[in-house]
Amino acid sequence: MKSIDDITAALQGYDPQALSVDQVNAFLHELVQPVSANESQDVYLFDALGRVLAQDVISPISVPAHHNSAMDGFALDASQLKADHPLTLRVVGTALAGKAWQGKVNAGECLKIMTGAILPDGLDTVVPQEFCHIDNAHDMTTVTIPPNLLKAGDNRRLMGEDLRQGKPALKAGQHLTPAALGLVASLGLPDVRVHRRLRVAYFSTGDEVLSLGEAPREGAVYDSNRYTVFGLLTRMGCEVIDMGVVRDDPVLLETAFAKAAQEADAIITSGGVSVGEADFTKTMMKQLGDVAFWKIAMRPGRPMAVGRIGKSVLFGLPGNPVAVMVTFLAFVRPALLRMMGSTTQPAPLLRAKCLEPLRKKAGRTEYQRGFVSSAPDGTLQVRTTGNQGSGVLSSMVQGNGLIVLHHAQGNVAIGDEVDVMMFDGAI
Ligand code: AMP
Ligand code: MG
Repeated sequence: MKSIDDITAALQGYDPQALSVDQVNAFLHELVQPVSANESQDVYLFDALGRVLAQDVISPISVPAHHNSAMDGFALDASQLKADHPLTLRVVGTALAGKAWQGKVNAGECLKIMTGAILPDGLDTVVPQEFCHIDNAHDMTTVTIPPNLLKAGDNRRLMGEDLRQGKPALKAGQHLTPAALGLVASLGLPDVRVHRRLRVAYFSTGDEVLSLGEAPREGAVYDSNRYTVFGLLTRMGCEVIDMGVVRDDPVLLETAFAKAAQEADAIITSGGVSVGEADFTKTMMKQLGDVAFWKIAMRPGRPMAVGRIGKSVLFGLPGNPVAVMVTFLAFVRPALLRMMGSTTQPAPLLRAKCLEPLRKKAGRTEYQRGFVSSAPDGTLQVRTTGNQGSGVLSSMVQGNGLIVLHHAQGNVAIGDEVDVMMFDGAI
C-alpha cells in the first residue's frame, strides 16, 4: 500500500495549496483500489440491480438458440428466387413460435411462419405476409412473391446473433443495469456473482450543526449534508453507515473515526477542514491517519482532506452543502466506483450553448449549477440557476447538471458553448 507521500511525490507539480481537479483525481486513482474479488457473493437477479459483477457471465447457451423468423410470413429457400420473375410456392404447413415444425419443405414449397418460430433446415429467408399474394383457391394454398423484393437471409434472426454459447455475455466490472438484468435472465441464469457492497461511513462535524429534532438555535444550521450524502451513496449502491453529527470534542471525534475505520471501506466527513477551522476535526485526522490537507483550485469546494485512517480511505469534505455535493461528484464518486470494482466509464460531458455571460477566473475549475433544455432548433442550451453561493442548496435541486468551466477557461460570453455534467441518476 503506497503512503500519501509516495503518491504525492509521483504527482507532477504537486502543490497542496493549489491542486487542480485533474491532479486530485490522479491522486485518488493511486490511493484507492478495487475491493477484492474474493469477497464476492451470489445474488438473485431481483437483488442485483446496481451491483457490480465480480466475474464474467459466460453464456451457457446461444441466444437465439436457433435460426428463427423475425416476421409473420412465409419461410423459403431463397435459392429459388430469380431476378425479374415472381415466384409462386405451395404452403405446406405452419410453424408457430415455441415449437419446432416437423416435416419437410421441398423445392416449390414454403412454410407459413410466425415471428420467433424456428426456421427449419434449408429455409433461410422469410417474406412478410403483407408483401405476397395469397391464393386459397383450390385444396391448396399458394403464395406469390413479387420479383426483386427479397434477398437470401432477409427477416431471419441468426442463432447466437445476440449471445454466443461459451463467450462472455457480460464482463466483470459491469454495473448491473435493468438491461443487464434482462440479458442475464435471457441466458436462463437466476443469479449472478457480484462484489460485496462497499461500506461507507459518514458523519457531519461542526458545533453549529444541528440534528433534525433538535431545537433551532441562533447561528446553528440543520444538518443537510447527512441527507445529501446518504442519498448520493444509496444511489450508488453503497451500504451507508450513518453516524450523524459528531460534536467538536477530541474524544468523541476519536471514537467516531476509530469506529468508522473499523467498519467501513471509506469514511466521508463534512466540515472542519478549512484553513481557519478552530475545531478538532483536522487534528484528529492528522493524529489517527495518513492524511493530506489540500486547497483545490476549484469553486465551490476549495478545502479537502484525503488519506487513510487504518485501512479506510478518508474523504474529508468541506462543510458547505453545495461544496459537499460538488466534491462528491467530482472526486468521491469516481473513487468509490473504482473501489466497487466498477468499470463504468463516466458519462461524457454535454456541450450546450450558454444563455448568459459567466464570469470565470482562469486557473481554477468552476462548477455552476445549470439547467439544460432543448432550444427551438433542437440543440442544447443552458442557463444557470441564479445565486451560485456554496450554501445555496436549492440551486442543486433546481439544476439538472453542473456547468463545468475548466481550469484554463476564462469568461463565457452569451452564445458560447460550455461543458455540462448532467446529474442524470446521480442526484
Ligand atoms: P466548514 O467547512 O466547517 O467551515 O463549514 C462551512 C459552512 O457549511 C458552515 O458555516 C455551515 O454553515 C455549513 N455546514 C457545515 N456542516 C454542515 C452540515 N452538516 N449541514 C449543513 N450545513 C453545514
Ligand atoms: Mg466548521
